[in-house]
Amino acid sequence: MNAESVVDGPGVRFVFFAQGCPHRCRGCHNPHTWPFSGGRLVRVQNLLRELMPSLLANPVISGITLSGGEPFSQALGFSEIAGAASELGLSVVTYTGHTWEELVCSSVRGVKQLLAATDILVDGRFVESLRDLSLPYRGSRNQRLIDVKQSLACGTIVEFSV
Ligand code: SF4
Repeated sequence: MNAESVVDGPGVRFVFFAQGCPHRCRGCHNPHTWPFSGGRLVRVQNLLRELMPSLLANPVISGITLSGGEPFSQALGFSEIAGAASELGLSVVTYTGHTWEELVCSSVRGVKQLLAATDILVDGRFVESLRDLSLPYRGSRNQRLIDVKQSLACGTIVEFSV
């Protein structure tokens, strides 16, 4: 977890890192998150009880970010965290190595819930040959910032403008 990040989405954000990622992108900045063993195993309800009061008490925090690792590999648990944050008025940014097209077609448990609880999705694997440090909140040019609510409502991708 990172209590105050300004590089993982708009504003100041509290970041949750998922342990485990199946994508294994060359040049990944977080290769220690690849193994599905390791990290800290926590019950979502305990995590929320532990963190939400201090998160809400911090006036600079505008939202939470789910990063990784791959949050959609633990979609149900992360959807509960995202849903609780939304109920408290916090925005939700979710990073994924999957594409939007893969996620909207997925029947894996929790994927639709996590998508629905996300405000901005940063999608796609990190591609080293497309690396661009000038892009806000993402590392390579194939990755998109997607306005999830608008995209679900329109049935087509609506990109989020920074
Ligand atoms: S999806 Fe993200 S965490 Fe996973 S390997 Fe790619 S860059 Fe690393």
